[in-house]
Order: sequence, then C-alpha cells, then structure tokens
Amino acid sequence: MSGDIEQTIKEPAAVSRDLIAREVARRRTFGIISHPDAGKTTLTEKLLLFSGAIQLAGAVKARKSGRHATSDFLEIEKQRGISVASSVMQFEYRDHVVNLLDTPGHQDFSEDTYRVLTAVDSALMVIDAAKGVEAQTIKLLDVCRMRDTPILTFMNKMDREVRDPLELLDEVESVLKIQCAPVTWPLGMGKTFRGVYHLLRDEILLFTPGEERADGEVEVIKGIANPILAERFPLEIEQLKMEVELVHGASHPFDLQAFLAGKQTPVFFGSAINNFGVREILNALLEWAPAPRERDATVRAVSPTEPKFSGFVFKIQANMDANHRDRIAFLRVCSGHFERGMKMKHLRIGKEIRVSSVVTFMASSRELVEEAFAGDIIGLPNHGNMQIGDTFSEGEALQYTGIPYFAPDHFQTVRIRNPLKVKQLHKGLQQLGEEGAVQVFKPADGGDLILGAVGMLQFDVVASRLAGEYGVDAMFEGSAVNTARWVTCDDAKIFADFQRALSHNLAIDAAGNLAYLAPNKVNLNLTQERWPKVVFHTTREHA
Ligand code: GDP
Repeated sequence: MSGDIEQTIKEPAAVSRDLIAREVARRRTFGIISHPDAGKTTLTEKLLLFSGAIQLAGAVKARKSGRHATSDFLEIEKQRGISVASSVMQFEYRDHVVNLLDTPGHQDFSEDTYRVLTAVDSALMVIDAAKGVEAQTIKLLDVCRMRDTPILTFMNKMDREVRDPLELLDEVESVLKIQCAPVTWPLGMGKTFRGVYHLLRDEILLFTPGEERADGEVEVIKGIANPILAERFPLEIEQLKMEVELVHGASHPFDLQAFLAGKQTPVFFGSAINNFGVREILNALLEWAPAPRERDATVRAVSPTEPKFSGFVFKIQANMDANHRDRIAFLRVCSGHFERGMKMKHLRIGKEIRVSSVVTFMASSRELVEEAFAGDIIGLPNHGNMQIGDTFSEGEALQYTGIPYFAPDHFQTVRIRNPLKVKQLHKGLQQLGEEGAVQVFKPADGGDLILGAVGMLQFDVVASRLAGEYGVDAMFEGSAVNTARWVTCDDAKIFADFQRALSHNLAIDAAGNLAYLAPNKVNLNLTQERWPKVVFHTTREHA
C-alpha cells in the first residue's frame, strides 16, 4: 500500500444533508456474538449467501478452516485455521447497506472480540439450542450491555434434538437478564422439526432441509388453525398450539422500544446450516435494528447526520495480507461523509492527514473505498501513529468515549534470550500495546514486564509478531498475577499510602495508568475491602 498521503488537493464534493440522512437511515451495522460452535460462521455465510454477497456456500467456512489464503490475515490464523482478528463484511440487501463485523469466536478470543462490539449498533446472539446459554455468550453480552446495544437472538440447530424452547427462553432471561420476546416458535425439533410459527404474522413457515438454497424459498401456511396443518402434522401441531398458548400467556410481546433500549430481545428459531430462519433474522435486522445513532464524545454528543466527518479507531490489525505488510486501523464512521482523498485531523497528535488509500471491506475482498457514511467501517493505513480509541474529524476537537480496554484474564512475564535486544523488545511491546494486541504492565518495583490478555492466543500472536517485525526472540513464562484492576483515588494522601504499602502489586500500563495486579481473587477482594476509598476499575478508557 502506498501513497496514503496524497499531494494533489481535492476539495470534498458538497453532499447534502438529505443525502447523508438517507444514507445513514439505510445502514445497519451489527456483530454476531456466540459461544464457539454455536453456528456463527455458518450463519454469517448464510447471511452473505442470502443477500447475494457471495454465490458459493463454503467461502466463509473455507476461511475458517484455513483453506483460503487470501482471508487468512495472520500466519497464525493459517496455522490454527481460525479467525484471530475480526474482519468486516459489507453487503446490500433490500436497499440497505449492511455492515457485519466479525467477532472471533474461538475460546482463545481476544480483546478485539470485545472492542468490535463498541463499533456496532446492534448484535445478533446465536445460541446452540441443544446447549443453551454458554460462558462466552455471557461475557459478550456483558460488553453489549455497557452501551445497551439492542440484541436479536437466533436459537440455532433446531434440526437436532434440542432443549425445551420454553426452558431456553427462561435461561436467557435469568442468566443474561434480558427479556425474551419470541417472534417465531418451533414446530417440533430434530427429526420431527417441521418449521416455525411466526407469532406476529400467524403463519407457519415449513422446513425443508437443504444446505445450498440461497433463494430461501419456503412454503408458508397461513393461520395456526389451518386444517392443512392438522392433516400434515397432527402430533406436532397439537403440541405447538399448547406451547403457543403458554407463550402468549407467559412471555413478553415484542416491544420495539424495549428492544432498542437493550432491555428485550426478539427470539427466532431456525437452523443456520439448512438456511432456515435466516431470512426472518435479516428482515428483523433491517426493520427493527437501529440505524447509526448519536454517539457520545468528550465535548458533546455527535449526530450521524451531521455534515462533517468524524469517527474513531476501534481495532488495529497487522499484516492483513501477505502482499501488504502493513497495519490497518479500522475506523467506524460516526458522522458526515467520508470521501477518498479528503483531509482529516488525527486529534490526539493534532496532525492533518490526507488519506487516499483507504480500504473498505466487501464480503469477498478488500477494495478501495470512494465514500462512506456513519455506520461504515473504513480501513486506514497505519504506520504506527494510530491507537485504539483515536478520533478523527474534519477539525473539531472531540474525542469519542466508550472505547474501553478490558482488564486481562491471562498474564505472562516476558524475557528475551539476547539482552542486546532489550530496546527492540520495549519498542515492539510499546507499539503492540498501543495497537491493543496485548496489554503491557511495568511493575512499579522493577522486574520483568508482565503481559496481560483477554485470550491466551494473544500471547502467541505477540510472540510471532515480536520475532517477525522486531527481530526479538522473546520467552514467555507463567506469571503469579491472576487478575488486574486499574486503580484511582480522589484522596491524594490515601492514594500515596496505598501505593507505598502495595508497591509490589502495582504496575504502570502502556498508557501510564496505574494498575493493581493481584495473585488471586481473594487477595483482590481483601485489598478492596482494606482500601475502600480506592476505586478498582475493570475497564479503562483510551488515554
Ligand atoms: P462457530 O464456531 O460458532 O462459528 O460455529 P460453526 O458455524 O463453525 O458451526 C459449528 C458446527 O455446528 C459445525 O459443524 C456446523 O456444521 C454445525 N451447525 C451449524 N449450524 C447448524 C444447524 O443449524 N444444525 C446442525 N445440525 N448443525 C449446525
């Protein structure tokens, strides 16, 4: 990638407020959250097939299994056959522009997984109906809750023997603390899965197995009382009628406002692998999920339809393509109109840049982007001067908020074999820390650097990047640290005492923030009890 700072001056074309408003209104930016193996990859592929963005089943899957070299951005992805870093897929459907932000779903997921959710306007939660709510879903939902992100739910794998649907809803409500509003209801399951009943439209959508049907033609029978149903599925229909009565009595009717406030989730049943129930999800996304909304910044809230461009970086990815050994900063557009070649201000460093080789992310490849509106994700070439959370605007000094760093769950100490490389190690870790690839803690008492990550795989990524990009052969070892919290205190004297008493547990992160590193949760709880005036934070904002 070359020439991102272009010499020729190009004035941005005037774009009317009406056009911006229209473009914003037709955008939907969402991410899929799920526990590994619930069916996120399968559903992603069906959504792309359905919209016509891809023609061939297998393209997304192939990427997951590592057979498609072009999408395997990092060497490590190839080796493990999983998607380490999330990517972005844009497609059009029914005159809408849909941006689907992929969240790595392997159990070795990383901070990226969390942070992608700060850039979406809604989320689709996929649950394996045989398993119910699983650990990673709980964590991801907690992150969605930070911004009250509206959530749609897809109960997947109805073609298998699954759990009782009422029990599944109960579990979502009690474990995830979100109201369920079933929109479709299953007719049978496993071998006798016949389809779903659409509660709002009073129609039965009949199920026929089949993986490759992109057109999604489904036979529809009007009315739950239709005699055809009793003829064809005498057993299942009686059961359905009973359940629907229960559902009407016991569950919540769909309430758009409650959904938009993140308090209620519409629930759909289906089978991703059979492309069944996918159309209903896509339609709900278009009809109910929000277009880009106002976003908070330090000085004011910014409306997506304002004429001036602004946005923030939520992810930085290295070496997306072996042919371009570059880094890409993923920027979520929050307002105005982006046009290739326009000037924008990098507010943290106070510099104006003119970006011409910005990339967008179509389902199949990276393409040069000509224009973008709020909700779109654009990729800026990054030569090491961009950080997670950086805001870009046409000049106005504002900083988007709510792009957090999360307290790591895993820790390792890092050492190098060759002491002459210590400088490179520090430089590498500084940059990787700024990119959000890993968190770097420098113990207040000195000693080896401690790396913190949300997922273990982050350490492998860091080791391979330190070797490949900085020529540093680093050794990682287990650390006595088990959990971390950023600490602040309004009372300077108490804070000074705290720091003196606990210096062996304190460390400074890459942005200069003080963190308390605890050997275990018991220690953390005790310390919190002993120092009630000190605040222990599980997240921190961009510096
Ligand atoms: P991910 O880890 O969440 O991305 O899950 P995948 O999409 O890779 O799916 C995990 C496994 O579940 C794969 O073997 C899929 O073929 C299978 N799977 C996905 N959807 C369905 C479904 O609707 N029914 C059945 N029976 N299997 C499914």
